[in-house]
Amino acid sequence: MTSLPTDLTDLIEANAEGELHASAMREVLESVAPVIESEKRYREHRVFERLINAERVVRVKVEWVDDEGVARVNRAWRVEHCGALGPYKGGLRFHDSVTLDVLSFLAYEQTFKNALTGLPMGGGKGGSDFSPKGKSENEVMRFCQAFARALGREFGPRTDVPAGDIGVGGRELGYIAGTLRQMTNRFEGTLTGKPESLGGLSGREEATGYGLVTFVRAMLEHAGKDLDGKRVGISGSGNVALFAAERAVREGGTVVCVSDSSGLLVKDDGFSEDEVRTLKKLKFEDRGRLHEAEIDGSKYHEGAEPWNEVSCDIALPCATQHEIDASEAEAIAENGTVLVAEGANMPCTHGARKVFGERGVSFAPGKAANAGGVATSLFEMSQNATFVPWTLEKTIETLDETMRAIHARCVEHGKDGGGVDYGRGADAAGFVRIADAMIRSGV
Ligand code: NDP
Repeated sequence: MTSLPTDLTDLIEANAEGELHASAMREVLESVAPVIESEKRYREHRVFERLINAERVVRVKVEWVDDEGVARVNRAWRVEHCGALGPYKGGLRFHDSVTLDVLSFLAYEQTFKNALTGLPMGGGKGGSDFSPKGKSENEVMRFCQAFARALGREFGPRTDVPAGDIGVGGRELGYIAGTLRQMTNRFEGTLTGKPESLGGLSGREEATGYGLVTFVRAMLEHAGKDLDGKRVGISGSGNVALFAAERAVREGGTVVCVSDSSGLLVKDDGFSEDEVRTLKKLKFEDRGRLHEAEIDGSKYHEGAEPWNEVSCDIALPCATQHEIDASEAEAIAENGTVLVAEGANMPCTHGARKVFGERGVSFAPGKAANAGGVATSLFEMSQNATFVPWTLEKTIETLDETMRAIHARCVEHGKDGGGVDYGRGADAAGFVRIADAMIRSGV
């Protein structure tokens, strides 16, 4: 490992909101240290130092009433990390594990991811420690309305444009968008990932998972391989996971597992496209659990996670952060996996990434591989600004072009002997773009 400048690592430790935030910054520093070293102006303008703290953090309490008539209180935040390249852009997460540390790490990552897309977006992230799981439809609606009233004044199509994330899908975004319209009396499409009936983009729902598969195909092609017949292991069964599964199956991959926070569903000879549709209905429409899935030839393993159980050529972790540590990474490499691409944000720990490097497993970080969602959000902003609807075909075609352009930037900045260090390439390409905008903006 390169030795990192101690003044910068000290600054990270002193300013981080917690360990996740610190580890995200250390990871980026490891990638960009050579760039900072070689470009005098990045040092002179103290760009890395100035990116450590978010430009603005807003914390509110959200008061709402449950079905028993009891007043409930949750905490919510919006972290506006860096707006040098455009309006703050990044999702909202509703989950009981949400803290300022989690959102700060996600906002930091988002700034680099958005820069890497080449599109005009700054980085931010928000959310609440409210979990929609187990709440009634009316409780979710009342919470979303209260959330929008508490934090909505921070949002706007030219200032800060949130989207979905864990626990926040079309349903939640619809309630938040409805409340914002009442508050402002303007139909501005401030949020992205909205239902299509509220100005949402055809294809936005599919975009992160579909884009992930396009990125994987670009990696395989770069290495002279293809997806045909490859065994693909997927964790999670949410938005990213199931649309990645759908496209991987459609493009010739054999998807052998998906999971949720209770267990693992394995089908050794691969789910068909119809079976993935069944899973989408179960999870998105019926809001059911994977153990209820009725799919011939599949087996549910209560409490199991994919990475010690299933052997696959390609691993797509699509559930949550830090789900793969060094020991799971060893198991993945041992099982013969040749490529890991993060659908979730930072599902692999620093230790896991090191193992992949040592064991020759090709690794794509989330900020490159899952950037399709945010890129497509920009298309939704464009649709809302012009009132000209996009077709599904146009969205998917532009998404694929964007993912291939991101892949090319990673290759350009991440050349590593005969191969590509995608982690370093993604961070360096994003950093250079943000740094130049910051320098031109002045201090
Ligand atoms: P969803 O809420 O739709 O799905 C999350 C999935 O992960 C669910 O299957 C959930 O299980 C599982 N999961 C969540 N937390 C845990 C946990 N602690 N342990 C095990 N499983 C868990 O979220 P998304 O698919 O939208 O997001 C997944 C990841 O992708 C997140 O890291 C997110 O930040 C990232 N991402 C999402 C984008 C998007 O467009 N949606 C864009 C870019 C990144 P269960 O069903 O039991 O809750």
